Amino acid sequence: SRTDITYFGAGPALLPTDTLEEAAKALLNYNGTGLGIAEHSHRSALAADIINQAKADLASCLDIPDDYEVLFMQGGGTGQFSAAVYNFVGAWVARKYKEIFGDIKGDPADHPELIQQLKQAVDNDLKIDYLVTGGWSQKASAEGERLLGSKHINIAVDARKANGGKFGTIPDESTWKLSENAALVYFCSNETVDGVEFPAFPKSLEPGPDGKGPIVVADMSSNILTRKIPVRNFSAIFFGAQKNLGMTGITVVVIKKSFLPPTISQPSVALMRSLALPVPPIIFQYETIAKNNSLYNTLSIFDVYVAGQVLKKLLRTYPNKVGGQEAVTDEKARLIYDAVEAFPEIYKIIPDKAVRSRVNICFRVTKGDDTDAAEKAFLEEGTAQGLTGLKGHRSLGGIRASNYNSIPLEGAEKFARFIRAFATS
Ligand code: PMP
Repeated sequence: SRTDITYFGAGPALLPTDTLEEAAKALLNYNGTGLGIAEHSHRSALAADIINQAKADLASCLDIPDDYEVLFMQGGGTGQFSAAVYNFVGAWVARKYKEIFGDIKGDPADHPELIQQLKQAVDNDLKIDYLVTGGWSQKASAEGERLLGSKHINIAVDARKANGGKFGTIPDESTWKLSENAALVYFCSNETVDGVEFPAFPKSLEPGPDGKGPIVVADMSSNILTRKIPVRNFSAIFFGAQKNLGMTGITVVVIKKSFLPPTISQPSVALMRSLALPVPPIIFQYETIAKNNSLYNTLSIFDVYVAGQVLKKLLRTYPNKVGGQEAVTDEKARLIYDAVEAFPEIYKIIPDKAVRSRVNICFRVTKGDDTDAAEKAFLEEGTAQGLTGLKGHRSLGGIRASNYNSIPLEGAEKFARFIRAFATS
């Protein structure tokens, strides 16, 4: 049964049982309305309350400042690989347009020489910087290239290059080749497949004393709500709900409000076309989603409700909010890594110690001569003890234990005991 299992899958992840029990009731009869939550209109006052409460609780958990907006979107983290490109390229062009056109109003096409100047700026200067530190940032950069063409993509660092073609390190910041005035600098704060996590916000992306810095967009799909984050250093942060927040189906974007005003209505869609740059599908346009409080189209209010309940539980459990969750995450990760490290002949941790993830713990089982057989035995014996979802990603093999927020401390302790017992058996 559910109580016998600790599930370490990489996502979707476990949800707290009491939250699911409440959610099951809400699906049949929400707050005595006689109608289930998935049946109520997304335009109802009740839906607006659920959205507004979840936004407020997320802001409270993460200390999101007032000049940031929270959007609930669809299309997953993958959708945001595209959305970030569309929206921040639009914002870049809007800034350049302002620089070149100044106060000139009317149809831009009436000023062919200025359009030419803008075209040249796009050709020469429009860049998106990607820090490629694992499979997910690599996928994001590939999408950027698909939408814009390689000319506009700058891989500021590819962690595989200095590491024999494999992910598992984050090269020193002095080796990163960042562009000047990039439309955005993109990184994935925790690489779910490769078990690589940025230990802190990169120094070279920090804003200066004037508060100005590069436009930074981060994918926090797998480590959101597991540690405190300096929200002010980011222009946007996004994450799917299905690992640390709730159920699959909603994606959250936390975005600085100054990036929301019309980015592509001035310059116009026609102008973007004439520059051979893409305009976002309406459903990926941040401004549209913000203006409609995330209800431009039908959103799964049930998914927002579940995320909201998870946030309420976090706030109830930890007086210092995500700081409390961070301490527990660190402790669970320490228990597991200590157990693995105690047997260097039996286990080999895949990523470098300095950047290994607290949330996706990846290692090989090298017991005996046959790693495949040892890993199979590890997984089978683990499953027999209720420790499931431990198989590594198909591209990497080995073991991956996802230490998300719903893994209780006792679950990590049990797993650590199993790691030690397997090594000595
Ligand atoms: N980024 C990261 C870091 C992920 O772990 C994942 C999914 N595992 C994604 C993006 C893609 O998210 P989705 O499946 O929601 O599109």
